[in-house]
Amino acid sequence: MKVIKTIREMQKIADLCRKKNLTIGFVPTMGALHKAHIELIKKAKSENDVTVVSIFVNPIQFGPKEDYKKYPRPIQQDLEICRQQKVNFVFHPSVKEMYPNNKILTFVEVTKLQDILCGKYRPGHFRGVATVVTKLFNIVKPHKAYFGEKDYQQLKIIQQMVKDLNFDIKIIPVETIRENNGLACSSRNLYLSEKEYASSPAIYKSLLYCKDLILQKKFSIKSCINKSKKFLDNLLSNVNHKIQYFEIYDENLNPVENNVKKIPAGTKLRIFVAVYIGTTRLIDNIGFSI
Ligand code: AMP
Repeated sequence: MKVIKTIREMQKIADLCRKKNLTIGFVPTMGALHKAHIELIKKAKSENDVTVVSIFVNPIQFGPKEDYKKYPRPIQQDLEICRQQKVNFVFHPSVKEMYPNNKILTFVEVTKLQDILCGKYRPGHFRGVATVVTKLFNIVKPHKAYFGEKDYQQLKIIQQMVKDLNFDIKIIPVETIRENNGLACSSRNLYLSEKEYASSPAIYKSLLYCKDLILQKKFSIKSCINKSKKFLDNLLSNVNHKIQYFEIYDENLNPVENNVKKIPAGTKLRIFVAVYIGTTRLIDNIGFSI
């Protein structure tokens, strides 16, 4: 495994791979690698000749009051995981390499999709994501890139961007990987205290509860949401918490009809939740057909 720190070297390697007709699978990450990242890497390895993992905590996707500074960066541990997974190249640039003089003038925005759910509460977040992913795509030159459904809005934004800007890259979704207790794996789970971690399965439980309510077809979407929020509040009552949003869209992030009986059979729905447990902001979602 080779660790690449410069854009120029990564591009040269990508060019060489392409010249040899080797396919490049790419897994972009911010590091603090866990079980879910490993699943993405395994999938990339199984479908490509060469696998590149990037580890870069992207400053431009964090708001001024967010956790950019304290985001975990266990780089030696991450490299060991990549080595174990037989990753071919880890692209691990400095902030200076990616943003010389701390400044770029060009940004990528996927309108509409960036304004709902997390985008509403994290202004500029998805602009930062779309911009860095564009840069990484131009640096790693992958044939396929792997994104988790845990960050479903991010996945849809990247798919839209690739379509709109004609990137010749196949985006491969990977389903959400969970801890044994149901909590979606996340680097931010490291922030949770023991007590907070113990109560965190409530998030996934509330999504399943909401899905059940919808499938009963007895309540409106609004009422399912309200009941599910109460259910979640109740399960989290022994820890400091705040539900930021609890929302339902279709699989393409279009709003859905409030009257459940009017939603056409076979429609794919997604329930999304964002919640602060203590000071840690966690997100999760599930998809199902009605
Ligand atoms: P991150 O390092 O958090 O930026 O995540 C890197 C990639 O891993 C993104 O495509 C995420 O969606 C994906 N990912 C993170 N956590 C999970 C999870 N629990 N299940 C599936 N994919 C995930």
